[in-house]
Amino acid sequence: MAEFGAHAFIWESDWNPASARRVIAGAAAAGLDFVEIPLLRPESMDTAGTRRLLAEHRLGVRCSLGLPPAASLPAHPQAAEAFLCRALDVTRALGGPVLTGVIYGTLGQLPGHPPRPGDLDIVAQTLRRVAAYAADQGLALGIEPVNRYETHLVNLTDQALELLDAIGADNVFLHLDTYHMNVEEKGFRGPVEAAGKRLRYIHLSESDRGTPGTGNVHWDEVFDGLAAIGYRGDLVMESFAAVNEDIARATCIWRQVAPDPDTLVREGLAFLRGKATARGLIP
Ligand code: MN
Repeated sequence: MAEFGAHAFIWESDWNPASARRVIAGAAAAGLDFVEIPLLRPESMDTAGTRRLLAEHRLGVRCSLGLPPAASLPAHPQAAEAFLCRALDVTRALGGPVLTGVIYGTLGQLPGHPPRPGDLDIVAQTLRRVAAYAADQGLALGIEPVNRYETHLVNLTDQALELLDAIGADNVFLHLDTYHMNVEEKGFRGPVEAAGKRLRYIHLSESDRGTPGTGNVHWDEVFDGLAAIGYRGDLVMESFAAVNEDIARATCIWRQVAPDPDTLVREGLAFLRGKATARGLIP
């Protein structure tokens, strides 16, 4: 069976003791298996307190991030490696099995030309070293392609699969996101089937980042593709009812795209669960 989770920013965009409690209690009350916590500032994460809250609510965790400018790839491979290894330490301290997202670049950093020869070699070499560090701790790494307005490095499933080949590590997997697929791919089912067992994480996000089921994403194609590959990875509702300055800049969200967390859970999560249950992906 796949596991079902949701992004923390459905509830809160900050991570302090009070907001962490609201996120974790909200995700647990929604009946989720896990919550995805963005490690925007891994150095300031209260791992012990967060881990206690997760245990109290019997909730699992996954971690995600994009690289900060000072630790970006391909510009700063040593800083990127150190940053990602520290983020893996935090992931492990929280009890999470996975660190995923735009681990290969900085959101919004667009140099005005396609990747130069060698750029993706630097990315692959750096992530190969980080993957070895992760493997020693029993952790896995995800690569999330995002749309052309957020990165010039990896926009398509095919490009991400090429990067996975270049990294050549079993504990690195593909992480798709239906919001980005809606911009970049020719359809939804084809990329999912092309990825097959290398797809282990999917952000279920509407075309405007709002409530799933209310926009242009072809949800039946998405879930038919997942059923066709016998998907056993993570299903993650990603929307942003709560937006802070970091996430607004990273995702270019300049207005309220989703209603309150309760509506997102009641309508969006119920919609996605219905699609997944109908195809036997979750109980
Ligand atoms: Mn995403």
